[in-house]
Amino acid sequence: MKLVVGAATDVGRVRTGNEDGYLVDDAIGLVALADGMGGHQGGEVASATALEALRAAVRAGRPLRDAVLDANDAVYRKSLTDEALAGMGTTLTAGTMAAGNTLILAHVGDSRAYLLRDGALRRVTTDHSHVQELVDEGQLTNDEAAVHPLRNIVTRALGLDPTVEVDVYPVELHVDDRVVLCSDGLTDMVHEDAIEAELRREPDPTVCARKLVDRANAAGGVDNITVVVVAVTEAASGAADGSSDAPPAVELAADVAAVRLGTDAP
Ligand code: MG
Repeated sequence: MKLVVGAATDVGRVRTGNEDGYLVDDAIGLVALADGMGGHQGGEVASATALEALRAAVRAGRPLRDAVLDANDAVYRKSLTDEALAGMGTTLTAGTMAAGNTLILAHVGDSRAYLLRDGALRRVTTDHSHVQELVDEGQLTNDEAAVHPLRNIVTRALGLDPTVEVDVYPVELHVDDRVVLCSDGLTDMVHEDAIEAELRREPDPTVCARKLVDRANAAGGVDNITVVVVAVTEAASGAADGSSDAPPAVELAADVAAVRLGTDAP
């Protein structure tokens, strides 16, 4: 098994800066997406700080949940050093490969991870948002939540407190699966049925990420949009097969930088 990762980010059609960020590090098999929030430069700083701290922690051998806690700590500490950064925060959704073809996902906030398997899209993560709580209580349907005026209120984010609760989801991958990480700039604009259709139609992960961003912009692009698409493929002949204990290799799609931290579309 081999993972091929494509990604795209865009400022959208309304905002002036891109506070989203993503990271693909093939050396350590890490993918991550962060959607920052906060006045002035706060959102950009929060997402970039979280991604850099996450990467450093995973590189140092920290388990993913602990690495997310390290990222929380880094954003929180930085927010205390500068009045302009006070109160900044970020979502963080990250995946790293473990043995046995298991993808470990760790998640805080209202960005999302999806799994496309056998043509059907399933949401893996649960939003930490006010409207998700209303869905859980039976007061809203998913479709009502998707267009609710208060849908952008998050109930959990990195950097707001010295510690944070992290959701962890192990996903055993199959060949031909697609895993998608995305910010709410996609899911606020594009219905899950349309996301599913695009994933089924477009096999190239980079092209697919770009097309999903284009769809969000065509629908109004009211927020920054970031999409990371992980395609699970057969390993090349001679490489380790799915029975190996070693995690599968992560490969970058041709035009994805090894590590992208920052704000402007590539
Ligand atoms: Mg957003």
